[in-house]
Amino acid sequence: AIPLVVAISTAVSAQNGLLIRNRTAFEESRKISALVFDKTGTLTKGDFGVTRVEAVDQQFEPDELLRLSSALEQSSEHPIAVGIIKKVKEKDIAVPKPENFNAITGKGVEAKVEGKDVKVVSPGYLKDEHISIPDGAYSSAAETVVFVLVDNKLAGYIALADEIRPESAEAIKVFKNNNIKVMMATGDNETVAKAVSEELGLDGYYSEVLPHQKVEIVKELQSKGEFVAMTGDGVNDAPALAQANVGIAVGSGTDVAAETADIILVNSNPQDIANLILFGKATYNKMI
Ligand code: ADP
Ligand code: MG
Repeated sequence: AIPLVVAISTAVSAQNGLLIRNRTAFEESRKISALVFDKTGTLTKGDFGVTRVEAVDQQFEPDELLRLSSALEQSSEHPIAVGIIKKVKEKDIAVPKPENFNAITGKGVEAKVEGKDVKVVSPGYLKDEHISIPDGAYSSAAETVVFVLVDNKLAGYIALADEIRPESAEAIKVFKNNNIKVMMATGDNETVAKAVSEELGLDGYYSEVLPHQKVEIVKELQSKGEFVAMTGDGVNDAPALAQANVGIAVGSGTDVAAETADIILVNSNPQDIANLILFGKATYNKMI
């Protein structure tokens, strides 16, 4: 059966944006009963535009918040970073040089900029540091918000918007028709997670998820008898991809995610997963 599966997997991956690293993953894709997608860049386009920049500490002008943030974000590949840098370029703001740049796992980035300790972080980070979220930060359900800290004090925030991929809705129809539960696990805030989940009619979502929590999410579903597929794009996602019955690395994800995954979803398009599952079911039904 091995050469047949190899031949089929090759054919499927040639037709779709899939690379199958583990041949049993193709065989097992037909058993998937729950899919856990990441949000940014998979269910959504991952193409963020800055919608608002608000100062909380009036010492800082919005452009100054962008300028300080850009020093850090130029070293990050996160879609949020790409969105912030796009805005800074549009405004012709000169990007300062950072020192001691550090990515805070699943929470943001930090560096020294002109002698100041600057951080651009998630709402979860604020919670951990017992810093309250300013009024108005979540005035729109469609916005992802990151917070700018200067010397560990909240200076302001930057709101960004992304769009749902049109292909996501199509793919979700296929999953529903095949009785596959579709969930989302995102590091993004509750408001955005809920809005995306409702718009796509998902069966559930997990928001403000830290990388190690993704493993727990997979285990919890497995303990309920689900055969779980999970997507992920980062180094941090590797343990969850390994835990999943079918681990799917998306897009130009890091090598570590790709090395752990059973399948690589080249175009980050959920519809390619739908095609894989349908193709797997059809193939094995014929064989039996
Ligand atoms: P996701 O891929 O679901 O956004 P991540 O683990 O990549 O999850 O990020 C979690 C959160 O950490 C983001 O939603 C954001 O709030 C924050 N974050 C991560 N990287 C950056 C960055 N470069 N700049 C600002 N915030 C970031
Ligand atoms: Mg991510």
